[in-house]
Amino acid sequence: MEESLTFAELKAPVQFIKGIGPSRAKTLSKVGVQTCIDLLYYFPRTYQDRTRFSLLSFLKDGEIATVRGRIISVQENRPKAGLHLLKVIISDGRGRAEGVWFNQPFLKKQFFSGQEVIFSGRVSRRFGPIQFSNPDWEILDEDKDPLHTGRIVPIYPLTGNLTQRAFRRKMKDIIDFYAPRVPEFLPPSFLAKFRLMPINLALLQIHFPENIKQLNEAKRRFIYEELLLLQLGFALKWKEKKGRGGISFKTEGPLTQRFLNSLPFQLTEGQAQALEDIRKDMRSSRPMNRLLQGEVGSGKTVLACYAMLVAVQNGYQAAFMAPTEILAGQHFLVLEEFLKDFPLKVALITSGTKKNQKEEIREALKEGKIDIAVGTHALIQEGVSFKKLGLVIIDEQHRFGVMQRKILKEKGENPDMLVLTATPIPRSLALTLYGDFDISTIKGLPSGRQPITTYLVNTSREKDVYNFLKKEISKGRQAYVVCPLIGEDEDENLAAQAALKLKDYLQKEIFSDLKLGLLHGRMPTSEKQSVMRDFKQNEIQILVSTSVIEVGIDVPNASVMVIWNADRFGLAQLHQLRGRVGRGPYKSYCILLADPKNEDALKRLDVMVRTNDGFLISAEDLKIRGPGEFFGLQQHGTPELKVADLFSPETQEFLEDCRGEAFLYANEGKALFKKFPFLKEMMEERFPFNSGYVEVG
Ligand code: ADP
Ligand code: MG
Repeated sequence: MEESLTFAELKAPVQFIKGIGPSRAKTLSKVGVQTCIDLLYYFPRTYQDRTRFSLLSFLKDGEIATVRGRIISVQENRPKAGLHLLKVIISDGRGRAEGVWFNQPFLKKQFFSGQEVIFSGRVSRRFGPIQFSNPDWEILDEDKDPLHTGRIVPIYPLTGNLTQRAFRRKMKDIIDFYAPRVPEFLPPSFLAKFRLMPINLALLQIHFPENIKQLNEAKRRFIYEELLLLQLGFALKWKEKKGRGGISFKTEGPLTQRFLNSLPFQLTEGQAQALEDIRKDMRSSRPMNRLLQGEVGSGKTVLACYAMLVAVQNGYQAAFMAPTEILAGQHFLVLEEFLKDFPLKVALITSGTKKNQKEEIREALKEGKIDIAVGTHALIQEGVSFKKLGLVIIDEQHRFGVMQRKILKEKGENPDMLVLTATPIPRSLALTLYGDFDISTIKGLPSGRQPITTYLVNTSREKDVYNFLKKEISKGRQAYVVCPLIGEDEDENLAAQAALKLKDYLQKEIFSDLKLGLLHGRMPTSEKQSVMRDFKQNEIQILVSTSVIEVGIDVPNASVMVIWNADRFGLAQLHQLRGRVGRGPYKSYCILLADPKNEDALKRLDVMVRTNDGFLISAEDLKIRGPGEFFGLQQHGTPELKVADLFSPETQEFLEDCRGEAFLYANEGKALFKKFPFLKEMMEERFPFNSGYVEVG
């Protein structure tokens, strides 16, 4: 057994590795490799199986093949100035082929007649002899394992002037030296339970696999490793949050009773299940830390309202934070409506709230005269304090940073926390993004809703769309028309101007006998509120807006959503927009006006036409955009998985395994890292966003 390296040694810059000087180090840093450990974990992007040799006489033009033969001759010529041609002709007894290299005269001294060599590459047999142009090659030497041919050969993701051949050679030396010296950092019980390859062997096999089976086992180890490190960070965070003393609410009481009785509908099965989760959490003496995910319109707000009433009937205050002023305003209206005869006080506080009014609300919050505060990030601004904050609800969490959530929470003493998200995602994704939360998912929509029919309509047919709107409105329905984003940076000012122009045009030229309203982010708060009220009361039939209505607006009578230049919106956004209709008993439509110019846009619109299922849509979105961008836009500080493939069904299974183990390990607290100090280092190394929580025992 070789002597193990320390973590500090593994964290040393690559430049200190023998054979890697400052210039190679610079090239490597371009692909994100800084340290020795980065390099060991710089896995091949794919492999080529070069273990089977083809017979020269059977080669087909264009195929990729590995052949072996004896060198008959080595020829050199210069067909014209500046061009050097090296030809190495081989024979396998039955057929002949030539390897050809351009302008690499220095290669000549590598080849001698009579040597046995392996060529690997694409076959060309169009012009006379069989040719391999610039093949990978290897001189067969009795004592040496072949590296570039005759085996499963790693292909690395490279940039700059690094060649596969040179890099592979270097990597082989590095792996041969380091792999046996990397200390195992996963607990032995974990390795045993899932029959995982030890780190030393796994590093060897992932870079230079002996065979496919070994390669797959090495991959499996690194997938488990990656998922365990991720989930361990989450588990520790979760535990740290849960470890604080929380409020043990009584969930039965007059307010909640009355609220449930007043609902004009029955909770769906999904809602009832999620409600049970919330009630259990709120009764517990541990703080609630729950993510509630559900399709747009699945009825999350109702549950949020229930939870707030629990807090209030226990003598606490509740805060409900939304990402935009319009959404906060909308929640406020809904709550006012739900709670109009209830003996409690709800207030709205946003950046648009007038100064003296804000002052009043602040005072009242501090004195406990307001029970429920709804607002935007104005809620977390300095100067806002609560008398007794017991519950924090955050809508559409991916728009808030972790920091903002934390600030709001700190305005109370370990208040319960419920996060709502309308971008429901498959469990494997949810566990990757929100692994430090307990997760409830509302599946399905309230019954009686008709699925929304979506059409993709070319912009040249806008008049047909207007006729369709007229017909729907004559039946008593209402409609939204959403204006395109303008410019690259979604400038709300420009969008607002465009919305205004479109509204004026539609009002004058198309719908002169109807009342149209305008909504955009640059309007004063009071104006926004009055427009929303008018639309809700059907005093406005068509609401022209920018994408500010994306979230939250709830007008069940609206049955048509028209989205101009729909190709400019992302999938999640389109789905949110569409979710504004189909909220009542009426057949609803979403019309995507666009002439998409690129393939991704067409794919997105096609997904919209094909399905209403938010889970499917987020999965498609992830596929189209790729994990980097998808996660990046969701929130920052999210993990990027390097080895595990979130789409593979087996990942799902591994993820559950690792999550289970991680939560068990987290129970050990500090003792765990006393036993496995390297585990902590590796966890922080791989997922830095998850660090900083591990000190808590
Ligand atoms: P979300 O917040 O998930 O988008 P909401 O809570 O705003 O959904 O609910 C959407 C609409 O459906 C609201 O008008 C709400 O009153 C109504 N609703 C909620 N739950 C039910 C239910 N179980 N049955 C019928 N309608 C419901
Ligand atoms: Mg809602």
